[in-house]
Amino acid sequence: MNKPNRIYLSSPHMGGTEIKYVNEAFETNWIAPLGPNVAGFEAALEDYLGEGNHVAALSSGTAAIHLALILLGIESGDEVICQSMTFSASANPIVYQGAVPVFVDSESDTWNMCPVALEQAIKDRISKGKMPKAIIAVHLYGMPFKVDEIVAISKKYDIPLIEDSAEALGSYYKGKPCGIFGDISILSFNGNKIITTSGGGALVTKDPKVKEKTVFLATQARDAAPHYEHSEIGYNYRMSNICAGIGRGQMEALNGHVKLRQANHAFYTNLFKGVSGVTVFTEYTPEIASNHWLSCIVVDETAPFTAEALRLALEADNIESRPLWKPMHMQPVFKGSPFYGTSVSEDLFKRGLCLPSGSNLTTEEKQRINIVIEQLV
Ligand SMILES: *Cc1c(COP(=O)(O)O)cnc(C)c1O
Repeated sequence: MNKPNRIYLSSPHMGGTEIKYVNEAFETNWIAPLGPNVAGFEAALEDYLGEGNHVAALSSGTAAIHLALILLGIESGDEVICQSMTFSASANPIVYQGAVPVFVDSESDTWNMCPVALEQAIKDRISKGKMPKAIIAVHLYGMPFKVDEIVAISKKYDIPLIEDSAEALGSYYKGKPCGIFGDISILSFNGNKIITTSGGGALVTKDPKVKEKTVFLATQARDAAPHYEHSEIGYNYRMSNICAGIGRGQMEALNGHVKLRQANHAFYTNLFKGVSGVTVFTEYTPEIASNHWLSCIVVDETAPFTAEALRLALEADNIESRPLWKPMHMQPVFKGSPFYGTSVSEDLFKRGLCLPSGSNLTTEEKQRINIVIEQLV
């Protein structure tokens, strides 16, 4: 028997106008890490984020975090606080700089950095003679972290905040878009994100000089001279004009994608309404709106199935699902890194599951998911 088509967790979804911008790049021979699409994509993002923010389009979200750390002067031996429950790309650039990650637990309502554990971590590091140099907080699965609380702690101790908004373009906190709350913020346009440039990212800043410096560092740090003159180490992190063309088209589709992902969340909320022990990850206050990049659940002992049993049942029908991000303090590569908090993120990892959430999920595909789940309850 033929297997049914694979249903993915989150796959690229083109809006239709991307190819026009890519063709323009070909027709004008702007096949380079600069050109009108790069400027146009940055302008579209700046327009979307508002409040005079400046955007530098880069080759990836990881590159954006790396440059953010460099711009904040993070050096070998420095300590950087990072949300433990996240994708490894939030933390890896700390190590690229030779700095030391200090991980902080999540809280159970937001799944994001716990402000109480954050302050404990800062106080303890200070008592050990180490003032943390930056804080990296993440809007997991598009759910905004407690911006007011985290920003207040960042200001109180004068430690700059890097807002990892890789999963949260299109999410809102108290009426403002995620991606503007950090001293530096970052976005990702990887293939699985809410919009994609096939691979790409961006750094967001309020300071035009910081954008200028970002572009300088991302294009090999060339000083002003007719020959190649360098007084700083540079990187090859700029977005190409081809990728930015895809991004311009994707920006025209963004609002539609957000609505479709939110509709997926409503579908799962309805699907699990009568199932005991299953909680769909939902806004913890009406003051925020998640883009619901991924729809996620946690499954407790009273449920008729475990998260792993559900994952295997979906897989048997060629439907992809995945456990939640395994916290960084549990990862072999970060063994021995300091960690502050309790067992919130560890417990979420054990009981959680991400479900198919693409903005291109069809009615028929939802029907297949529905059938698998109905057979388990
Ligand atoms: C995807 C992602 C990144 C990295 O972005 P890339 O563009 O894939 O390098 C960073 N942080 C989080 C939370 C992400 O989900």
